[in-house]
Amino acid sequence: MTNPFSKLGISDDVVNAVKALGFENPTPIQEQAIPVLLEGSNDFVGLAQTGTGKTAAFGLPLLELINFKVNKPQALILCPTRELCLQIANDIRNFSKNLANAHVVAVYGGASIVQQLREIRNGVQIVVATPGRMLDIIDRKAIDFSNVNYVVLDEADEMLNMGFQEDINSILSTTPDDKKTWLFSATMPPEVRRIAKNYMENPTELTMGTKNTGNANIEHEYYVVRARDKYAALKRIVDYNPDIFGVVFCKTKMDTQDVAEHLIKDGYNADALHGDLSQQQRDKVMKRFRERSMQLLIATDVAARGIDVNDVTHVINFALPDEIESYTHRSGRTARAGKTGTSICIINSKEIGKIRQIEKIIGKKFTKAELPTGFDVCEKQLFGLIHRVHNVEVNEEQIDKYMSRINDEFADLTKEEVIKKFASLEFNRFLEYYQNAPDLNIREDEKFERNSRNGSRTFENNGGYTRLFINVGSVDDFTRGDLLGFVCNNGKISGKTIGKIDLKGVFSFVEVENSQVDTLFTNFKDVSYNGREVRIEVSGEPSTSRGSGDRRRGSGGFGSERRREGSGERRTDRRSSGRREGGNSGGGFRDFSGRKREERSGGGRREGGNDRKRRS
Ligand code: AMP
Repeated sequence: MTNPFSKLGISDDVVNAVKALGFENPTPIQEQAIPVLLEGSNDFVGLAQTGTGKTAAFGLPLLELINFKVNKPQALILCPTRELCLQIANDIRNFSKNLANAHVVAVYGGASIVQQLREIRNGVQIVVATPGRMLDIIDRKAIDFSNVNYVVLDEADEMLNMGFQEDINSILSTTPDDKKTWLFSATMPPEVRRIAKNYMENPTELTMGTKNTGNANIEHEYYVVRARDKYAALKRIVDYNPDIFGVVFCKTKMDTQDVAEHLIKDGYNADALHGDLSQQQRDKVMKRFRERSMQLLIATDVAARGIDVNDVTHVINFALPDEIESYTHRSGRTARAGKTGTSICIINSKEIGKIRQIEKIIGKKFTKAELPTGFDVCEKQLFGLIHRVHNVEVNEEQIDKYMSRINDEFADLTKEEVIKKFASLEFNRFLEYYQNAPDLNIREDEKFERNSRNGSRTFENNGGYTRLFINVGSVDDFTRGDLLGFVCNNGKISGKTIGKIDLKGVFSFVEVENSQVDTLFTNFKDVSYNGREVRIEVSGEPSTSRGSGDRRRGSGGFGSERRREGSGERRTDRRSSGRREGGNSGGGFRDFSGRKREERSGGGRREGGNDRKRRS
């Protein structure tokens, strides 16, 4: 039987490579685009979402059209971000692994230019690049594009959004006039149309789905809450979806960092991705997310562009994007490669108009959803537990030796009683936490805000230590020792007064003797590290020094904590139940979203603006 890719005109070596990647059948965009592009004689415009298989749609034809005996750049692929650049280069290397002398170079900012120049000097046929670094290399006269026959502009709308128009113009002016240009874009705003008009001659146009529409496999929902309840709403959505694997979008880098910090403090398995992080930090965060050792990625639009992680179940718009077109990109992070997904917007009542505008663009209606009540969450979590208990794999050999003792312990209980007690073990905790949780939904007829709950943050301390949160961690290349030195030097306290140091990714927790906390806060002012303001705060989590071992690891939440622990079907920390939304963390966030934001007004830079002129 002929392989479906062979039928489209792809040669055996490349077909074998994609087969090895598990591609059995072409995706719709591949099916339509490959035969057209293989002709190599036309400009091309493909309107396609991310996650549809467009890299292979242009990558496979390129491999057929390039002469690999010649060690000169023959194809240039421009894309908006470093992450996407690496992904495309990696994909094409995989597709071409059976082709002798095929060389692909990835050219992007934030990494050594020397190595990239060396690879170019050694001879490459395919250059995958972000515009800024590409232009640097062209300015150094380190590349010759006179043999380029094909230029691919991938995610063209994003490149324009990021302000790369001029860079693209300059780069294209160094390529031959008779090259063919293939443009891919998720949306077709007038600026992209203009590129197509200015740089292309009668391009073949293919539209996957309707113009500007989003992926049909995505359900769109919105929740209306008060601005100050957004964070509590976010947590409730996460709690109601214990298996969530999601991307949460914020507007500014600062909001991204704040939301991630609060989630981490509340025990969720989350981390931030934004442009203030170094490339190395971003890589580390992405690696954790890709490996699913993290459950929630909190990101800005710019940082999340081109993220190719399959199986994302939810995209949550903690803030709606300023540019409505960006919604398509955000929601496209879920429902990739034929899967389904949900895109959620948490909005206030003034933003309903924006939802209607988005509906017009994506050509799909949103469902107005109601936030689950505390009891709904309890029920969901309870039955999640019951299913896990039902399905847990029993290690017969190991458990057998304890069975007779376990049976003895339960001898006075009936089966029903045992089941009830097992279920209650978790259920009581959920109930304790959620039974007084307020209704966060705003009713249409509701004019006046209800009295807010007490917004003060409380914390416990234990064994004479206070647990402090600090927004630096292992991604800043801190070791525990470095962090100890950093805290003590800046806070002017002795290292002997430090308890446990819990080094996380972008954050850490440090325990300090209660008597030293005031001194630390008095001295720890205007501290920065690598240009980032370093903040230290009392953590919402209790300090656990003096014999409490690992109990704190259970302090977060239900589903999220399980994921963090990996296999943990059960947690031991009874204190954890009441601390996620109600008085403590919800209050903390109100503080954050109200007072702190006012202090910061104007400080939360839009990431796009900042990156606009930055060379990639
Ligand atoms: P892309 O839109 O190129 O980023 O591709 C999205 C995801 O789909 C990637 O993980 C690809 O590896 C995968 N993919 C692309 N084409 C196919 C195919 N024909 N069959 C199965 N998976 C594919």
